[in-house]
Amino acid sequence: MNEELQDYLSHLIPETPGWAVELETQAKADHVPIMDCLSMQLVMQLIRLHQPRRILEVGTAIGYSALRMLEANPNASIVTIELDNARYQQAVQNIKKLKKDSQIKVIHGDALEIIPALATAGEVFDCIFIDAAKGQYQRFFEAADPMLASGGMLISDNVLFRGYVANPELENKRFKTVIQRLRAYNKQLFNHSAYTSTIIPIGDGVAISYKNNQEGVDQA
Ligand code: SAH
Ligand code: MG
Repeated sequence: MNEELQDYLSHLIPETPGWAVELETQAKADHVPIMDCLSMQLVMQLIRLHQPRRILEVGTAIGYSALRMLEANPNASIVTIELDNARYQQAVQNIKKLKKDSQIKVIHGDALEIIPALATAGEVFDCIFIDAAKGQYQRFFEAADPMLASGGMLISDNVLFRGYVANPELENKRFKTVIQRLRAYNKQLFNHSAYTSTIIPIGDGVAISYKNNQEGVDQA
């Protein structure tokens, strides 16, 4: 998205709550890659419209996006997974301070191990938000897919990764594998028979996938 448009859109957003501004400042100071304001607004709007009761988040960082998703649907309960110990501790602290610890459960560990454990335990979610290591999206997806109810929503952040994913000329040696993997991820999402997907090119690119209602598919 060009800078002018991004500027215009971000200035339309009314005042952010003080606690969220504080977390944005904290993230900036520690170089934690939390969602940018436009992507965050989009995810919050999807949550308002979809009203998921149970949300699984992969990649907590300091708890910012989990807390904002809860702001968008105060009735939700969220399970969120973070690998990094310092960030996990920070998230737990932030969530506790805002008294949301009864609704947001932070799990410390590798999502590649935690997600299958949740699936084995019979957990079910109506929204899954993937925002962690970009090279692993396919694996997160495969592990989490069985837990997403039909009619549920899968949101994947960073699927256009700085524009590299859509533009072969921007190809970058350092990120070659990540870019190739994201391309493969997007392709399989769009071709997956159980999902209908769309990508919104704001922020780093947000994919929105709807898990088709099986009855609807059968009737078609
Ligand atoms: N969703 C957050 C930002 C997450 S940044 C927000 O917008 O507020 C991505 C996070 O994913 C990082 O903190 C990183 O430590 C974590 N991460 C990366 N790989 C992971 C994995 N395999 N399991 C769990 N967390 C992981
Ligand atoms: Mg992200």
